[in-house]
Amino acid sequence: MERIVIIGAGPAGISASIYAVRAGITPLVLYKDEGALKKAHLIDNFYGSPSVTGKELQEDGVEQALALGVKMKQAEVMAIDWNENFTVTTDAGVIEAEVLILAAGTKREVQKIEGLKELEGSGVSYCVACDGFFYRNKRVVVLGNADFAAYEAEELAPIVAEVTILTNGREGMFTKDMTYPVRTEKIKKIGGEGRVEYVEFESGKKFFTDGVFIAEGTAGSTEFARRLGVETDGTGIKVNADMETNLPGLFAAGDCTGGLLQVSKAVYDGVRAGTSAVKYIREKDKGGN
Ligand SMILES: Cc1cc2nc3c(=O)[nH]c(=O)nc-3n(C[C@H](O)[C@H](O)[C@H](O)COP(=O)(O)OP(=O)(O)OC[C@H]3O[C@@H](n4cnc5c(N)ncnc54)[C@H](O)[C@@H]3O)c2cc1C
Repeated sequence: MERIVIIGAGPAGISASIYAVRAGITPLVLYKDEGALKKAHLIDNFYGSPSVTGKELQEDGVEQALALGVKMKQAEVMAIDWNENFTVTTDAGVIEAEVLILAAGTKREVQKIEGLKELEGSGVSYCVACDGFFYRNKRVVVLGNADFAAYEAEELAPIVAEVTILTNGREGMFTKDMTYPVRTEKIKKIGGEGRVEYVEFESGKKFFTDGVFIAEGTAGSTEFARRLGVETDGTGIKVNADMETNLPGLFAAGDCTGGLLQVSKAVYDGVRAGTSAVKYIREKDKGGN
């Protein structure tokens, strides 16, 4: 069992890890890649770093954390469950944690498919753990082209009658053998009278389905929050001034909490989250939490 697990190795997660380790608790940081910073060609508005590339800033942060003794593991998190402690399911195994800091950034790309927004909650769902049950013995599709989509299909398979993955014109990026049907045609629209009835491909062909589960790219903060029943406010995960969410032992920091999507804010959030997580554990050890 880990004491603190941090999801994300961006400025929020790394800052949280630095403050936690220096306060006496060595956290484990799980990360998939360099996060938003890998796309930032040049950052010239961060204190003391007049012209640094996003990649350099991220790598320097990781180096600093490792030098302080922070544990880091490259693994994609697929799901998080809570039952007094946190169970983090990754593509490299399952990890248990007493306290979790979500610093998984935010997704900037949104699929623009006709009908998707309109049918949200009426057959379009973003959460298998929340809505899968409503599709017992029904026919569903999962929209996505990577391992997260495969994971969601796996979760749906025992409940539904049939699950198909639709990649919407993209190549499948699955790292494991795929056991579900995959269709790669580009999607024109999601249609139906008041609720999802079909997905129409650009060829005009219709694929009849009862539900569309969105599982694009990597599972992100929003997906984790939905699964855990954590409050969000439209821009991100809701936190108080100590970066606590409404779930005991779960903290969030950086872009995933909304507001200013900037490195300085992510660093501040991370500092608060790392400090608060250690304080929470100290209270718990004294029998306070
Ligand atoms: C093109 C571009 C230019 C930018 N320019 C600037 C700028 O000039 N100045 C500035 O201040 N800000 C800039 N930003 C914004 C800045 O990069 C972000 O605000 C900042 O990186 C947010 O930090 P974060 O730690 O919250 O998230 P991120 O840096 O996005 O890190 C998220 C971390 O979570 C991990 N993660 C996510 N999902 C999973 C999962 N399922 N399993 C495991 N790990 C996961 C990722 O791998 C990553 O390590 C820019 C962003 C972009 C995209």
